[in-house]
Amino acid sequence: MNDSGSALHDLDSNLRGSLLLPGEPAYAVRSKLASARNQRHPLAIAQCTGVADVVNTIQFARGQGIDFTVLAGGHELDGWGLQDGVLALDLTPMNGVLVDPRGRRGVVQAGSRLGIMDRETAVHGLAVTGGTVSDTGVAGLTLGGGIGWLVRRHGATLDNVTAIDAVTVEGDLVRASAEDNPDLFWAMRGGGGNFAVATSFELDLHPMSPTILAGSVIHSAADAPAFLRHYREFMLDAPDDVGGMAILLRANGPDVPADRHGELICVTILVYTGDLHEGERVLAPLRSAITPLSDTVRPQLYTTLQQVFEGPLLSQEDRRTYQKSGFLPEMSDAYLDEAMDLMKASPVPRAGERDGTLITISAMGGAFLRVGEESTAMPRGGANFYWEAIASHARVEEDEIWTGYVRDQMAPRLRAHSGPRAYLNHNSLDDDAAEFIPWAYGADKFARLQKIKSQWDPHNLLRYNKNIPPEGQARPLPEASGQTWSS
Ligand SMILES: Cc1cc2nc3c(=O)[nH]c(=O)nc-3n(C[C@H](O)[C@H](O)[C@H](O)COP(=O)(O)OP(=O)(O)OC[C@H]3O[C@@H](n4cnc5c(N)ncnc54)[C@H](O)[C@@H]3O)c2cc1C
Repeated sequence: MNDSGSALHDLDSNLRGSLLLPGEPAYAVRSKLASARNQRHPLAIAQCTGVADVVNTIQFARGQGIDFTVLAGGHELDGWGLQDGVLALDLTPMNGVLVDPRGRRGVVQAGSRLGIMDRETAVHGLAVTGGTVSDTGVAGLTLGGGIGWLVRRHGATLDNVTAIDAVTVEGDLVRASAEDNPDLFWAMRGGGGNFAVATSFELDLHPMSPTILAGSVIHSAADAPAFLRHYREFMLDAPDDVGGMAILLRANGPDVPADRHGELICVTILVYTGDLHEGERVLAPLRSAITPLSDTVRPQLYTTLQQVFEGPLLSQEDRRTYQKSGFLPEMSDAYLDEAMDLMKASPVPRAGERDGTLITISAMGGAFLRVGEESTAMPRGGANFYWEAIASHARVEEDEIWTGYVRDQMAPRLRAHSGPRAYLNHNSLDDDAAEFIPWAYGADKFARLQKIKSQWDPHNLLRYNKNIPPEGQARPLPEASGQTWSS
């Protein structure tokens, strides 16, 4: 056994979880990330079953002078959770969710996925904002923000966090809350995984019926511009119980009849999370504003809604996903015209295939803005609406067709009509990352984050992420760090 092999043997014997090594079937399974753009071969994957495994793995890495990454749900668009030749802390075995129904509090371990959290809270008639895809990791989502159907009602996921337990880069236990290390608490709500390794989140939970009103209305490309203007006016005055996302896309995939293939449509998902009868009354004006091609809004389980995007476009294994997003304090007519023009000029997928680009426009405002820009590190950009431009395709040789269209056409042209700041969880990074990340936060927030980073991670060991370097340091490229330990 060589040096690195015997050192890893030492780590293995200090873990309750498994140490997955190259060549093992479980290593291959766990190395798969949400976007197939990220194919990685880590040195080893330490499956942490509890806080002690996290502490031991960090102390091992520090003792050996090797880099480590942190992996939760694996949905990070740039795949930071796994890096070639780098030891990965896999938190997914830590996926417990404890609910205190009387105190309306939840403790969610950092390896949990949204679907687990929703399932365990719904059984008590409670809920908290999550994302819109059930296998996204709670940790990465919450450390960056957390935008989902309940965002107008309860803010982002991180607005509901009351405490975070974590392990520092020294391997020490730390608690971040309004009382304990308040600066760290502020930074870990929006600053991503830059400051410490979160092991669990304490969250406020809210009463919500497991059955809510939800579904989609679909409009043709001809009706979409007028409908989207109704959507805008409706959402600006809508009660917080309303959630919505309009999606401009080309009909594609094996279920679409040949004569409709590639047709531009607008699918608007509408959600009402209060009383069902009241929801019918509240949503009626928008549902009937322009007669839709179809209307599937009906009572359904919230946990079913949380799987509405599963499979088809975003979360299949072979999908090469790339994404940009922006905040809209106002949604101007010029923005809507630009979005329509971009979709009309977008590449047309092959018949029967699921490749495509799309633009989503989510309703924000409500509780998301009421908490205030300074309350957490998450940029909010005064957003009453929020767009995402997404490319998803299968063939590497077609990256420039799909990814290139979002990167070079959709993102700059939609951003020209958007406000400043950006939600980093929904932005793939490009060559301009060193300028884009500070811009996303704004100068004051970024400076405060750098200061807190200097205190908790002065050597930027937690740098495989949307990185915030310590004060006075440029972000080192992972390849240039000299610390990776190739197997
Ligand atoms: C299909 C899909 C759907 C999505 N839908 C939504 C949505 O509806 N709403 C939304 O807000 N976002 C959404 N996102 C974006 C998502 O919030 C981010 O990609 C988020 O980073 C995913 O977290 P994760 O734990 O799954 O990812 P990971 O890749 O495991 O982690 C993401 C980053 O956080 C770091 N990290 C993870 N856990 C910890 C920890 N415990 N301590 C310190 N650092 C840690 C990792 O090192 C990595 O840099 C979606 C992404 C995808 C791919």
